[in-house]
Amino acid sequence: MYVKSLTLKGFKSFASSTHLRLEPGITCIVGPNGSGKSNVVDALAWVMGEQGAKTLRGGKMEDVIFAGTTGRAALGRAEVTMTIDNTDGALPIDYSEVTISRTMFRNGGSEYAINGTSCRLLDIQELLSDSGIGREMHVIVGQGQLDAVLRATAEDRRGFIEEAAGVLKHRKRKEKALRK
Ligand code: ATP
Ligand code: MG
Repeated sequence: MYVKSLTLKGFKSFASSTHLRLEPGITCIVGPNGSGKSNVVDALAWVMGEQGAKTLRGGKMEDVIFAGTTGRAALGRAEVTMTIDNTDGALPIDYSEVTISRTMFRNGGSEYAINGTSCRLLDIQELLSDSGIGREMHVIVGQGQLDAVLRATAEDRRGFIEEAAGVLKHRKRKEKALRK
C-alpha cells in the first residue's frame, strides 16, 4: 500500500488544482521557505480526517481554504483527493485503488467520499484505522516534534510511549474517575 497521488484544489496556498504523483518508496519535497511543502503534508493529514485546526497550523478549520493573495481572490472551498494503491489489500476494501476525498466549504459544510461515493468521516477513519495510517496514528512527524521528544523529561517521554501503546487514554480515564 502506498499513496499514489494527491490532488489539492483551493487548499491553503494551492489555489489552482495541483496534482502530485508519487511512487513507492521515499518522496522528498524540496522548495524555498513558505513555498507550500508543509501545506502538502497538512493536506495529507486533512484528507485522512484530521479535525484539529491547530494540528493543521491554523486558528480555525476554515484556514485551510485558499484565503486569496494580491491579484487572486479567495476561494469558497478546499478540496483534497488522495489515491492509495491497495493492490496488496492492506485496506479492507475490495478495490486495488482507493480514492479518498474531503471538501470543505466556507459556510462550514463538509463532504467526504470514498471512491467517488459520498460517505461519513467515520467511514474514512474506519477504513484507515486498521492499516496503521489515519488520524490517531503517529504517521506524521511534524517540524520540531523530534526535537520535543529528545528534550522531553523522563515523565513526558513515558507519556509518548503510553500514547503509542494506547494506554494513555485509559490512564486519563482512571485519573478522571478518581477525581470524582
Ligand atoms: P518552510 O520551509 O519554512 O517550512 P514550507 O514550504 O513548509 O516552508 P508552508 O508552511 O507549507 O511552507 O507554506 C506557507 C505558505 O502558505 C505561506 O506563504 C502562507 O501564506 C500560505 N498559506 C497558508 N494558508 C493559506 C491559505 N489559507 N490561503 C493562502 N495561502 C496560505
Ligand atoms: Mg514547512
